[in-house]
Amino acid sequence: MTHMIKLMRLTFLVCLTAGFAFSQQQAPAASSTDKESAEQIDTTALAKETEQIDQRNGKMGIFFWVPTEFWEQSTVNAGGSRERAKQYFKPLRDYNVFLVGVGTIGLGGMDWTPDATLRKSIVLRDQAGDSFKPLETVSPEAQGFTDILKPTLKTILGPFGEGVQLLFFPIKDSTGKVFADPRHSSEFSLVVSDLMGAGTSTYTWRPPLTSMLPPKYCPLGKERVEANWKYCPWHGNKLDSEAKPAPAAK
Ligand SMILES: [Zn+2]
Repeated sequence: MTHMIKLMRLTFLVCLTAGFAFSQQQAPAASSTDKESAEQIDTTALAKETEQIDQRNGKMGIFFWVPTEFWEQSTVNAGGSRERAKQYFKPLRDYNVFLVGVGTIGLGGMDWTPDATLRKSIVLRDQAGDSFKPLETVSPEAQGFTDILKPTLKTILGPFGEGVQLLFFPIKDSTGKVFADPRHSSEFSLVVSDLMGAGTSTYTWRPPLTSMLPPKYCPLGKERVEANWKYCPWHGNKLDSEAKPAPAAK
């Protein structure tokens, strides 16, 4: 089963990238300036940090928090210009976006939970404990993105693409503050009720994401540490909360 999950994960990434290559066919090739390379993100590393795959009770759930930078970089990887990608995906920056799919594993393949059931069974919970339902209506621009993405996923992946839904949640908490920022410290969860079997399953993310920040090092041992670590697990010392640029190579 682990193999199957790995395969699906790979397929999923390939699919996303291919999807954007398709939608960006007319885009000129990206130029590789210094500014460009500074913005480069390893999308595979990002997906590893933000995608959670759970398997239990004969079910498989995919819960993928997708920062807008993921779409942008995937497009750039597929040959699109960064400027155009930023413009194209800008409407998504008004939301917290997740790709979610829950399927029942059967002999003939996966039986996917319909969109409406997903929507009423999942909430996003912020650090303060407030819960947000998936938004029923989003801006026409964000909706337009969904309308492009869905058939693309379906064409390339068939039933798998059909089973994964794009869920939009608010970008701001009840105090008006942006939460779930991939570059800043926070904690948030998707709380999933009665989909992965009976009861509640919680999937938690704790940014900042290592893949989206400059490398961070322990000041004592100089070893590389994760962006969201507050203490070095080997030396026990407190780590800077914000990542610093890598020490200059000699
Ligand atoms: Zn250390």
